[in-house]
Amino acid sequence: MTTLLRTAIDAKRDDLVALTCDLIRIPTLNPPGENYRDICEYLDKRLSAHGFETRLIRAFGTPGDSDKYPRWNIVARREGRAPGDCVHFNSHTDVVEVGRGWTVDPFGAVEQDGKIYGRGACDMKGGLAASIIAVEAFIESHGDFTGAIEISGTADEESGGYGGVAYLAEQGYFNPERVQHVIIPEPLNKDRICLGHRGGWWAEIETKGEIAHGSMPFLGDCAVRHMGAVIGAFEDKLFPAMAARHTDMPVVPEGARQSTMNINSIHGGQPEQAEDFTGLPAHCVPDSCRIVIDRRFLVEEPLEQVRDEVTALLEELKASRADFDYELTELNSVLPSMTDRDAPIVQTVARAIEDVMGKTPEYVASPGTYDQKHIDRIGRLKNCIAYGPGILELAHKPDEYVGIDDMMDSAQVMGRTLVTLLTEQG
Ligand SMILES: [Zn+2]
Repeated sequence: MTTLLRTAIDAKRDDLVALTCDLIRIPTLNPPGENYRDICEYLDKRLSAHGFETRLIRAFGTPGDSDKYPRWNIVARREGRAPGDCVHFNSHTDVVEVGRGWTVDPFGAVEQDGKIYGRGACDMKGGLAASIIAVEAFIESHGDFTGAIEISGTADEESGGYGGVAYLAEQGYFNPERVQHVIIPEPLNKDRICLGHRGGWWAEIETKGEIAHGSMPFLGDCAVRHMGAVIGAFEDKLFPAMAARHTDMPVVPEGARQSTMNINSIHGGQPEQAEDFTGLPAHCVPDSCRIVIDRRFLVEEPLEQVRDEVTALLEELKASRADFDYELTELNSVLPSMTDRDAPIVQTVARAIEDVMGKTPEYVASPGTYDQKHIDRIGRLKNCIAYGPGILELAHKPDEYVGIDDMMDSAQVMGRTLVTLLTEQG
């Protein structure tokens, strides 16, 4: 009976291309969060016509939400003939800035050599389109299914997901009583299943000094030299300690299969002048130096430990270094999330990949976070993966594209997953 599904998806190739192009042509840039209402209305029209009950939900009061840039989301649900499990496909509708280096119109949705180009093509309008085609073909070929299917299009994933999935989770949309299986069609390659992601901890560290004339630095206290000591301590102690830790998380690429830390920015002393300023700097000992750190951590590391490790190094300096003083301001934190390999959604999608592509899937975890964190922590729904077409490395790059064959294959995988979970053939 899955031949019916296969044929139904094969017949929708042109539809899939047209849908992907339409989605790319709505420039949902974030920041600031443009055209969210437009893309929700587009999806509303499409899904309502296929028997879905839809709700447009604005995440009032979340970061960035304003009358000029409202955070709109859509949740569409279609019930089967009898109660049963609900399978939910969640895609973010926002895309990141265009950046330089494009050779095609980033919102033109140019189709060439079996690929569709555009900002968001792979991350993740191609995945959204593939899931819609999979669901529509499934409904056509298995109209007597049980349970329910949901499709959501959500805002702000690229800026933390607070006006999107986090908001919906707070409203109960990811309550495990209501939804049992979640697939997020992020571009993780069509033969890989992404089980989760590392955590993140972001903080600003300021070292303090005392301003004085630059010709007599001994009369002041140089905050930049104090920051040098902080970075020195990171180099000597923190980086080697992080590199020595091992994880069971199958993070890709390999280099991210450990704790990492990026020093995001550094600034000390006088503010930098505009590029066209031709004057010379005044001679001052800097009384402040600031860095922002971006620490990514593993399921094996509790957030407390991540935080304490940095604070302990700063306290050590305070005890050993003359006049050392600092302030640490936490900016944000996200806990890691990992779905069990034995979880039903993992097993089902794995079998579907084997059936469609004749190969065993690779299990991976993402170096950066995505909306799974909110479904896990706020929704308390653990049966969630990322699976979708597109090459991860193309995300956020110029000339981003998604392969049409890849979308077709992953639509077959998503469709088969529905057959297994929502019909007796499964
Ligand atoms: Zn994405």
